[in-house]
Amino acid sequence: MMNETQKRIWTGAIIGICLIAAGCFIIFAVGRPDRVDSGYREVMGTFARIVAVAGSTRQGKISVEAGFEQLNRIDSLMSDYDPLSQISRVNRDAFEKPVMVSPELFELLQKSKDVSRLTDGAFDITIGPLVDLWREAGEANSLPEEKTLALTRAKVGYDNLILDANNFTVRFAVDGMRLDLGGIAKGYAIDKAVEAMKQNGAIAGMVDVGGDIRCFGDAPGRKDGWLIGVQDPKAAKKDEQKAASDDTQYQNTSASLKDWIYGQRLIDLIVKDAAVATSGDYRRFVTINGKSYSHIIDTGTAEGAKKFSSVTVIANTALEADVLATAVSVLGREKGLALIESLEDVEAILITEPPEYEIIASSGAGGYVR
Ligand code: AMP
Ligand code: MG
Repeated sequence: MMNETQKRIWTGAIIGICLIAAGCFIIFAVGRPDRVDSGYREVMGTFARIVAVAGSTRQGKISVEAGFEQLNRIDSLMSDYDPLSQISRVNRDAFEKPVMVSPELFELLQKSKDVSRLTDGAFDITIGPLVDLWREAGEANSLPEEKTLALTRAKVGYDNLILDANNFTVRFAVDGMRLDLGGIAKGYAIDKAVEAMKQNGAIAGMVDVGGDIRCFGDAPGRKDGWLIGVQDPKAAKKDEQKAASDDTQYQNTSASLKDWIYGQRLIDLIVKDAAVATSGDYRRFVTINGKSYSHIIDTGTAEGAKKFSSVTVIANTALEADVLATAVSVLGREKGLALIESLEDVEAILITEPPEYEIIASSGAGGYVR
């Protein structure tokens, strides 16, 4: 028989064990504050990765998926692969009649036009016909004729994109125009993904779409900020050329993609609550008679931009960083740097063409270099 004291000890012990078990159960069910890393997934014609830090693993996963949902949503909003998408309708019908679009797309078109004005037309989403012309030239391995180039160029110009804010309609003033949102889509999508992550409980995180990155909150395991590597355009160019001649080499799995990128880091940046975007002629290009032409079109010459190997921009939002990286690629050293210096909280690192690969930094860029 147990005496009163023994009974009390046993009851206390049992209650204690129950409380510990309940505690363990709650931690198990709800999760610990944790970092969730999606690894690389194929989105928007490239690879995307999201890292979320949240109060629990479960919340982190929810926040990562909310981010990807936005990336996928914006991909279908902006791509013209789907003939029924809003952009496809605009590109098909907007010369014949005004085409109504969603307030979201309308706002983005307005923003694109603002960037065109700011960059003196270096950034221009009406670049579509020239992008098509150079892609076709690459496929045919023959340079476009002067006459064709001139005719196509006449179809490009943001002044001919008519936006009616009262009716949310889009109209083209010239026949044959085509909008190409490739220079703004990733940045816009990243910002939307970050917003969705925050709404879904992320206290910190990072969204990387094809090397354009935005991070927020404290980086896991680091006090100074998020570590972002700027790719070495020289190494990247070599690898891209190799890959172009041997398509079995870069069947990207997450692991090989990571090794590949890690081997090419040239500059390490430490960034907090900001975005970094890079435009590079090694990223995508067409080859004609052995010569490569950048996928970024110089609106002045109507040819592939050839002023830099890469342009990296640091800004508060991914949209800003993305459009400015594309614009500076076209503007060149003097005008590009002047633009960057005129903008608050914006810095840039420019790397010139081979063989020099000279690194040029805006006045405050050094502050981000580790
Ligand atoms: P990014 O990689 O951000 O520099 O964007 C390049 C993409 O933007 C190209 O693949 C085209 O789809 C589009 N693009 C090319 N030239 C221009 C330009 N001058 N202005 C705006 N978008 C452009
Ligand atoms: Mg860009």
